[in-house]
Amino acid sequence: MIDRYNREINYLRVSITDRCNLRCSYCMPKEGVSLIGHDDILRYEEILRIVRIAAGIGISKVRITGGEPLVRRGACDFIASLSSTEGLNDISLTTNGILLEPFAAKLFAAGVKRINISLDSLNAEKYAQITGGGDLNAVIAGIAEVHRIGFSPIKINIVAIKGFNEDEIMDFAELSLRKPYQVRFIELMDVGRPALDHSSRYLSNTIIRELIGSHYRLERANGIRTKMDGPAEMYRIAGGAGEIGFISPLSQQFCDSCNRLRLTANGHLRVCLLSDEDVDLREPLRNGCSDADLAELIKRAIAKKPIQHALACDEGHHIKKCMKDMSSIGG
Ligand code: SAM
Ligand code: SF4
Repeated sequence: MIDRYNREINYLRVSITDRCNLRCSYCMPKEGVSLIGHDDILRYEEILRIVRIAAGIGISKVRITGGEPLVRRGACDFIASLSSTEGLNDISLTTNGILLEPFAAKLFAAGVKRINISLDSLNAEKYAQITGGGDLNAVIAGIAEVHRIGFSPIKINIVAIKGFNEDEIMDFAELSLRKPYQVRFIELMDVGRPALDHSSRYLSNTIIRELIGSHYRLERANGIRTKMDGPAEMYRIAGGAGEIGFISPLSQQFCDSCNRLRLTANGHLRVCLLSDEDVDLREPLRNGCSDADLAELIKRAIAKKPIQHALACDEGHHIKKCMKDMSSIGG
């Protein structure tokens, strides 16, 4: 489906839970999140139905996210069922990696080949600090396991946070020298009511790229970005095994190539990550709507997609339009 700004919408991110086994301070409020009631979370059959209908109107890629998707019981079996949806040709997963090692083989068998792992520090103490007690070793073991099994690409996502991990930028960059991973720096977005103050912690990817470029020769890995590429600008350190990506929603907006919708765990279809505008699918679904009605609602969400997100580019002057916490949206 093409939206009113001529963008092809072919990608759906599906949050299967708002629960998480970590408490990242940039993602969740200090007092914790109020969780969605069990009955309000979409059942797997309901998600399968929505995806089947979305695939019928042009969605060909689905990413499973959360909260932490691997904490929802039956996640691997659900993904295996999703794999047989006609029209879908790509199923991927975003995880914090804590439970990845035990689930990796089952995920691969279920059809996930592409995986994103969030990892904001390579230092065990700092990792525990930012995640509210997470075990870095578990994540490292998960990454090693997906590498051993043959997932590709393996993307390591780092949210760049001033005063927290700016001293680890070169460590992350050098990880891409040694390993065939895509190491991607993501700019911190002012979303929700997190424990960490976003506005004073924003670190532009321009600075990160310059820092890495002052130590190594960076080559473009995917040429000039086209409308069909994801939001990351990809580079490679000359001779490196992997790549380095920059996802820069603030310093280098990529809304002109936005191809996505987001389904929240309680069945709302969000039209933009950074706006709370959405279309409720759960109520109509539970009130017995037809497949054609559901397709119309999905088209309505596509029609509502804004030309660009509402966060201003200048540091510290963000206009917040998204009050939902990132853990309830899925990133
Ligand atoms: N729990 C899984 C994980 O951490 O990968 C999936 C859900 S998490 C909400 C998805 C992604 O959003 C993670 O990579 C996380 O680092 C990122 N994220 C959360 N809050 C963010 C923020 N304020 N700005 C930028 N990225 C954020
Ligand atoms: Fe959980 Fe992911 Fe949010 Fe961290 S970023 S609290 S792992 S949902």
